[in-house]
Amino acid sequence: MIRTSRVCRTLAALTALIATAVACGKEGSPPTKGPAAGKLPNYQVTQGFQLPSSATWKRAEKRGYFTVGAKEDQPYLGEKDPASGAYSGFDIEIAKMMSASLGLAPQTVHFRTIASANRETALQNGQIDYYVGTYTINDLRKKLVGFAGPYYMAGQSLLVRSDENDIHGPQDLAGRTVCSAAGSTPYQRIKADYPKAKLVSYDTYSVCVDNLLTYQVDAVTTDDAILIGYAAKVPDELKVVGKPFSEEPYGIGVPRGDSALRFALDDALEAREKNGDWKKAYEATLGLSGVPAPTPPKIDRYQGS
Ligand code: GLU
Repeated sequence: MIRTSRVCRTLAALTALIATAVACGKEGSPPTKGPAAGKLPNYQVTQGFQLPSSATWKRAEKRGYFTVGAKEDQPYLGEKDPASGAYSGFDIEIAKMMSASLGLAPQTVHFRTIASANRETALQNGQIDYYVGTYTINDLRKKLVGFAGPYYMAGQSLLVRSDENDIHGPQDLAGRTVCSAAGSTPYQRIKADYPKAKLVSYDTYSVCVDNLLTYQVDAVTTDDAILIGYAAKVPDELKVVGKPFSEEPYGIGVPRGDSALRFALDDALEAREKNGDWKKAYEATLGLSGVPAPTPPKIDRYQGS
């Protein structure tokens, strides 16, 4: 009984975060802590910016705003307020500062939620101009899309309930049920390297977290940056265990072949890291989970398309 009501309270607290209807008897959970709006930097818009060699930029400039793909259920990274529809988090700030650098006011960005498995298609069919949402740069994906960055380095990790004592790393997953998002690199890694784990997938990590809290799965796996956010929201119920067991360099996804846009975004990231905007954005968002600002990884201005 105690466990049920704790889970109920936890799920209620997570409701805003994961937009899942939960039938619990009690209300009154503390509000989830979002980024402090007053502390968010104002990104200076580059006046007279032109990028005529980018078809994506030209289209956006004509319509007057960028359409950016993002996540909506990842605490401190990309979250959508269910009441206002506003997006917030570190990835959202990166998206906004990029818009400003490319000459369009950050307030004009139109965000669209795109799940991990649908990112490449969304960029290929022009649904979005660029994508900022915990998107790992890798060679396989580079065959389908382009990447500016990286702008942050994450690593795959594991989230378990706080009463779990037997899972300390991926080697302990044999015979246990682990959940990840379809189309993600963490899903692929468990499938390839830890075949004894019972792997299940959903569109989003928040559904995995729901399943973890209700004892449907034993662990959730994805990047530490994402998992730390879920754990920080309900520290009594969840914990991140072990050491990261991969490198996940986050890039800004762009349509493949639009190297002009990709290089312009590389320049913009470099400039925003140099002028302090990157650090300020981090501290007002992801930094709230308790991890101090790291040094951003080196931008990989790769050749080819
Ligand atoms: N960074 C990993 C990936 O791009 C996991 C996070 C996500 O699914 O967005 O697949």
